[in-house]
Amino acid sequence: MRGSSGCAMIRSELRTPGPPGGDAASYGRLVERWRSFVRALENPDRKARKEGSPAGRAMNIFDAMKEHGHEEIVFWYDREIGLRAIVAIHDTSLGPALGGCRMWQYAEEEEAVTDALRLSRGMTFKNSAMGLDMGGGKAVLWADSESDKTEALFRSFGRLVQSLGGRYITAEDVGVTAEDMAIVARETRYVGGLAENSGDPSPVTARGVFEGICAALEAVDGRSAVDGRHVAVQGLGHVGCGLVELLVNAGATVTATDIHAAAGQAAAARLGARWVEPAAIYDVPCDVFAPCALGAILNDDTIPRLQCKVVAGSANNQLAEERHGAMLRQRGILYAPDFVINGGGVVNVADEFHPDGYHRDRAITRVRAIGDQLREVFQIADREGISTSDAANHLALQRLDLIGRVRRTYIPE
Ligand code: NAD
Repeated sequence: MRGSSGCAMIRSELRTPGPPGGDAASYGRLVERWRSFVRALENPDRKARKEGSPAGRAMNIFDAMKEHGHEEIVFWYDREIGLRAIVAIHDTSLGPALGGCRMWQYAEEEEAVTDALRLSRGMTFKNSAMGLDMGGGKAVLWADSESDKTEALFRSFGRLVQSLGGRYITAEDVGVTAEDMAIVARETRYVGGLAENSGDPSPVTARGVFEGICAALEAVDGRSAVDGRHVAVQGLGHVGCGLVELLVNAGATVTATDIHAAAGQAAAARLGARWVEPAAIYDVPCDVFAPCALGAILNDDTIPRLQCKVVAGSANNQLAEERHGAMLRQRGILYAPDFVINGGGVVNVADEFHPDGYHRDRAITRVRAIGDQLREVFQIADREGISTSDAANHLALQRLDLIGRVRRTYIPE
């Protein structure tokens, strides 16, 4: 929580007699929401019943921050346009918090906060695992990406980012495009991934996943090349298509799927991949299963069905629960942890903040090193007899802790 200042921001709104351009009823609802929010924060035992809350009780934000080690949450409400935005900064031991901005029509406030907390924490792990001098953060805009996008909304978000003075650097994520970010950049310099800089991260992410697949295959049978291998790709979006292209060009056989059948089948045909219905992708006998669509697809239902040696793809949060990492290990399937193998995009964006400015060759060289980073993860997992996901978490935390402690030393300016 941006302690006093975040609260002060909202409290100052409550002191004003009424919202410019808003009606008294909606203002009253805002006041009531804020009061119940403050009650929930001030009295953790209150456990006020909250209609519609999945947990059936009010969320305790400080407990959630304490549990997962967050530094700060900023709530931003733009009185003029009604924008509701949250920036969660998880950890800045390594540097400014870098993470995308997601636009989503959450069902309720708690869902938006939970998403911001979860995603920002994931960015700390990813940025640490990638060896970046960047901490973890994430922004969520509680709005509908189909109908709510306006210049004013993105400029307001840009002003929020600028107000944080560089503690948080934003970029595009689900529901937000490079064009939207160009508007954000008119209000803040803390934006990455603009077209004139590193641009669309997807091809670079695909390159990193390709390197990761090679490293995983090598760990399984000593041969890193993909020629003659069979890869099943779930999701033919930005990253999936890029990955299929790289695989096919390198001599692999690819079976692919997408829930958008017409566009997916057309993409598969264009790229030289076989097509399979979405529900059947888990049953394809193959060397590698590459999830490049949604998260939580490695779960109690799907893991027993997999007929592959390796799971290695771009999707975020692939494991439905942490224990599914161990379940894959028990089945003898090597899992390339998602936040390591899909880190190419963030490496590319982070390069923009290098003192010399963005250099694509330097970024690509670092992305190619994802294979080596995974080799280290696999070795630790082997040596310690733990899942690869545990090994990756361990590596990321270890760097965070060590570099964080090294940087405690006072150096005069
Ligand atoms: P995208 O939206 O362009 O593509 C996702 C594709 O998956 C879409 O075509 C969608 O129709 C399809 N899909 C959704 N559910 C599916 C299902 N159940 N079965 C089959 N297909 C399904 O997204 P993207 O940018 O290609 O990213 C893919 C994944 O990689 C996401 O999880 C994203 O968070 C992650 N990721 C992307 C990047 C990047 O640089 N774009 C970086 C890191 C992680």
